[in-house]
Formats: sequence, structure tokens, C-alpha cells
Amino acid sequence: MFSDKLGEECGIFAGYSKNGDIAPHIKNGLLKLQHRGQESAGIATGDFTQTLHKNKGLVTEVFDDIAMKKLTGKFGIGHVRYSTQGGSNPVNAQPFLIDCAGGCVSIAHNGNVKKAMEIRDEFEKNGGVFVTSSDSEVLLRCVISDLKKPPDQWSFEDIGGCLKKDFPEGAYSLVFCLPNKVVAYRDPCGYRPLMLCEAKEGYFIASEDAAFDSLEVIKIVEIMPGEGVEITETGCETKNWAQCGSESKCVFEHIYFAAPASTIFGKNVYQVRFELGTILAKDDNIKPDIVVPVMESGFTAAIGYSRESGVPLETGLLCDLLAGRSFIQPTQEARVNKVREKFTPVRPAVEGKTVVLIDDSIVRGTTSTAIIKMLRAAGAGQIHVRLSSPMIVNTCSWGVDIPTKSELIAHRFGTEEEISRAIGADSVRYLNPGDLKAVFGESGWCYKCFMGDGFVY
Ligand code: AMP
Repeated sequence: MFSDKLGEECGIFAGYSKNGDIAPHIKNGLLKLQHRGQESAGIATGDFTQTLHKNKGLVTEVFDDIAMKKLTGKFGIGHVRYSTQGGSNPVNAQPFLIDCAGGCVSIAHNGNVKKAMEIRDEFEKNGGVFVTSSDSEVLLRCVISDLKKPPDQWSFEDIGGCLKKDFPEGAYSLVFCLPNKVVAYRDPCGYRPLMLCEAKEGYFIASEDAAFDSLEVIKIVEIMPGEGVEITETGCETKNWAQCGSESKCVFEHIYFAAPASTIFGKNVYQVRFELGTILAKDDNIKPDIVVPVMESGFTAAIGYSRESGVPLETGLLCDLLAGRSFIQPTQEARVNKVREKFTPVRPAVEGKTVVLIDDSIVRGTTSTAIIKMLRAAGAGQIHVRLSSPMIVNTCSWGVDIPTKSELIAHRFGTEEEISRAIGADSVRYLNPGDLKAVFGESGWCYKCFMGDGFVY
């Protein structure tokens, strides 16, 4: 029935523009969130009536001058989508817009709600029809059906009440554009980040604060777990809509997803990754000639490793960031080909050198295996792999695209020695889970992908 996996990592941006033209602000914000999703992009703007433009592609491809001219109005929401394998159908691009009798309502969503499938089945049994396979549509249809009044009469509390009733469990940050306001909600456990900005130009919400870069910022605050925001023409107000649950901020946001320029969950991503790199270097027992980052997500940890160890950082591996994501290719062969397409070893930098290769994580082992082969072909000597995260031993129920357990390399080979042999490295070392917890703290964070059921490190 579904061609799509429901959980999604994505980026959202929303707001109100004092000059009456929100679309350019949303486009700028989405450009800064492009790393959170490259498969499709969309913007909905307006108030009582709304205009929606969305398509497959990067923000610059989807929003040319013609599209931007259509997007008028002072309120709006935008989305960049990371689709998983088989889910890149443009019909699932967000925002999702419904034109109701009492005005338009649109929604954009980052995360994963539980029970969306069951609720959808129930709707369908009663004759309901869905046009996408996205859980965002389920969310919106639930709110419409629960509230039974036109969207221009929906209050922040009305929507919060529906979310509490229908989606008590889930990892989500959500924005709605209504006829007279924009509202946002962060789930009670706070898995995904959500930031609020008061700027000279208006009021804005985004997955990460780096998205506010092009604004004249007055104040940025984090929207807390169980909290939301209401933005109207007269200002913005943060409000609680649910009791904060057991806080579970996603550590993987810091390790992989978010931009180094962002400060999310009260910590700056660059500083965290740098620190993880220094920890990796501190008690390392190898004598490398050069540190080579696996761009882009391994870069900051590699700088930390290099500073701490005194080993020079080299561009031993070029990365074509526009080559697309190897991770979501449907077959292992296609994933390997994509890695080869994406990375180019730099022979003069690596030839005859003992290399310490820094990446943020190994999931299936595709990237590291292919890269090591390429570096060896370019004349590298020993290659030691260091990861700025612990072993990924579990899948994620909360929106991070991690394949089935049986595909995880740490599940297939339980030790660093075996993994090193499997990927063709001279050695592999992961960040110790205890060190990760020392950086972030024992509680308040979701470590589930690193803490398998009964898995012993
Ligand atoms: P793999 O090639 O399967 O071992 O995946 C690891 C590589 O993919 C690393 O270079 C990571 O930066 C990147 N990565 C890790 N997790 C994800 C994810 N959920 N989606 C896309 N890429 C990821």
C-alpha cells in the first residue's frame, strides 16, 4: 500500500514578513537548510487563500524567478525533504496544502509520528482518500476532521489538543500556515530541533538557527520540547501545548545532520564535532602522516583530530557534494557506484602516506570500503579509520534513515578488528559511548542507535 517510509529527516522554515512578502525569506532559509534534504523542496504562502509550489530537486532548481513571483503573501511555510529509497515521488514533496471551506491550511513536517498508518487505515475504511503516502497528510487530515470548524477559527490550543490526542508519541517539529497566522509545535520529547527568530524583517521558525543567517536578527531562542509558537501580524508568542515528556534530543543531529554553523539543543554543532575529533586523537596509538576528512560531515571532527594530534590536515579526498546521496540508492552496486562518482582521491596528497581517515559514522560500510579502495589505488600506505560516533547498532524509530539491523556493519561484525578487515582498513576505532555521553550528558538525549538491545561494546 505504501511506497514510502514514513520517518523523514527534513528541514522546515516558516514565518511572517513585515513587508508583506515572505517567500524570499523562506527561500533563503531553505537554502541554508539544504543539507537536511535534497530530494524535493516546497513553499506555501498566503493567508485565506494560499499558493503552493513544490517539486523534486534542490531549492535553486525548484524556485526560479517565475515560481517566486507566484508565491505572494505575508505568511508562509517551506520544506526541504530527504526521502528514503522509493520515496522520492514528487507527490510526497511538502508542504501539503488543503483548501477548506473556511480558508486554506498547509503543513510542513520534520520527523516521524507513531500510529500514522493505523489512523490512515481507519480513515480509508470510512471512505477517506489520501493523495500522498506521507504522514504529514495524515496529520493534517486528522486535525481537520477533529476540529470540525474552518481553519480561520483554529487556535494554537485547538491544534495542540489534536496532536496530544492523536499523536501522543512521535518525533516531530511541525509548522502550519493558517488564514491568519503561522503556528509551530515541537514534540514533547524534543527529538528534532526547532528554533524561533525575532528579526527586523519579521518572525521566523526553522529547524536550525543557521537558516536565519540572511536576516537582521534581534533574538533567537530554541522552542523547547512540548512547546510551540504562534506568529500573527502583531507578534510572536511561545506557548506550552503538551507536558514535556522524557527529553530525548537526537544525538545524531549533532553528529551528522545539522550544519556546523548551527546551535541546536543548546550546543554549537561545530564545537561539538571539533571536540569529538580531539577526543578521538587524545589516546590514539597510531603515527599518521596526514589527517584526511571524509567531506562534508567528517570535516569538523578531522580539524579537531588534527589540532589535538599536531598531524596536518590534507585534502586527500575531494567530494562532489552535488553528486547525490549514495545512502539511499536501492542496491549495494548502485551505492558503491555513487560513492565512486562522489569522491576523488588526490594522489599527490596521499601517495606513500600513512593516512588517518575521519568520518562521522559507518552505517553499512559502503562509503568507507569504497573510499579505502580508492585511496589505496592512489598510492596511500596504511589507512586508519576513526569515527566521531560510536558503532551504530540499532535502527531508528524517530526519523533518522538507518537501514535494517541486518544491514548494519556493526551488527554483522561485532568488533573494531572485524570491521577493519571487512572494510579493508589497517585499523578502525570508534568514539567510545562513554566519551559521547561525557560530551552530551547521561540523560536528555536519544542514544538508541548506539545502544543496541543488549549489545555489548
Ligand atoms: P555507509 O556508507 O552505509 O557506511 O554510511 C556511512 C556514510 O553515510 C557516512 O559517510 C555518513 O556521513 C553518511 N550517513 C550516515 N547516516 C546517514 C543517514 N541517515 N543518511 C544519509 N547518510 C548518512
